[in-house]
Amino acid sequence: MRPDALPESASRPVVTPLSPSVVYASDTPDMLDQQYDGGLQGYTYAREGHPNADVVAKRVDRMENAPHMGVLTGSGMGAVSAVLLGLTETGDHVIGSTQLYGRSLRMMTEDLPRLGIATTLVDAGDVDAVRAALRPETRMVLVEVVSNPTLRVADLEGLATLCREAGILLVVDNTFTTPRAIRPFDWGADIVLHSLTKLLAGHSDVTLGYVAAQDEALNNRLRVFAVTAGLTPSPFDCWLAERGMLSFDLRFDRAEQTAACLADHLAGLPGVARVLYPGRADHPDQARAAHLLAGHFCNMVTFELRGGRAEANAFTRAADGLSFAPTLGDVGTTISHPASSSHRALTAEKRAELGMSEGTFRVSVGLEDPETLCAVFSQAIAAATGG
Ligand SMILES: *Cc1c(COP(=O)(O)O)cnc(C)c1O
Repeated sequence: MRPDALPESASRPVVTPLSPSVVYASDTPDMLDQQYDGGLQGYTYAREGHPNADVVAKRVDRMENAPHMGVLTGSGMGAVSAVLLGLTETGDHVIGSTQLYGRSLRMMTEDLPRLGIATTLVDAGDVDAVRAALRPETRMVLVEVVSNPTLRVADLEGLATLCREAGILLVVDNTFTTPRAIRPFDWGADIVLHSLTKLLAGHSDVTLGYVAAQDEALNNRLRVFAVTAGLTPSPFDCWLAERGMLSFDLRFDRAEQTAACLADHLAGLPGVARVLYPGRADHPDQARAAHLLAGHFCNMVTFELRGGRAEANAFTRAADGLSFAPTLGDVGTTISHPASSSHRALTAEKRAELGMSEGTFRVSVGLEDPETLCAVFSQAIAAATGG
């Protein structure tokens, strides 16, 4: 027997209702047939789609200028997997940037080769290097607009031209930059993906991902693969993400303003050897960031503490109230230490080549009062470096 119907009401809720139903009942086999054929809009089974996922997907679609409804996944890595595993075949070749998110790198270096898909990692700021890596069987180039943790900016314009000429896909992970700073489709990207877990949902209480393609057939392939592989998310996670996204613009702008203050503040401290923030004149990619990011230099700041591991340990211990945690985009400021987390698999020499040391910290600036935040950093850095 079906449960009782909801009471009639002449008014409606102002908050999206949570729809945890796994199955949806149709009236007749004919109607179900039409639903599967796409002639009738109707949900059938939650892995295939549900209202809470569609509400969030459409919200990100609007922000990203996506032409077709994007696909939600249970995590950002679900979105990366949908692209790298759902759109490639044995014998293909995939190019990725050297500074991709750690798990994306792992998929490039461990999982794709296991399936007979060759991969090459190159500097996404160097279009000539990407061109040199092209092979006849190259299928796509995967980049992040701003890299982790050195905040280098990809040459998105150059890459889009190169990929178009070569007839391959440009895939952009827009997690760090968000559509507030850049809409990669407007710059020629073929596929855009996100970890909504980070800035978009913004409260560190849900993991969720999003991917959309410019081309309708590719977009459908991504959806079919995500549904088949079971990458699609639960209604409650989508509901939480929607709630978080309602305040996204405000959170982003506030965190970004504070990040700019903190970057300048850190640059003036004796215990800090170097600050990397794309909005600062001393950042190697400042001009490119200004060109691509519409005046938004985002909420991530990286700095190098003077000293080695001992000073790094002392700093996180003294950084009162800041979470030393490997994430970003939370309402609270979080600090991460690439040498012991995201980049621990690399040798010290390889890390140095990419521009990071034992003193490198990446800060995801949250919503704290800027003065209070700067004071916490001053105090912790002085305590750690004896300054
Ligand atoms: C976190 C992150 C991912 C993975 O997202 P999850 O939601 O943690 O699976 C992918 N890309 C970037 C740039 C990220 O920061």
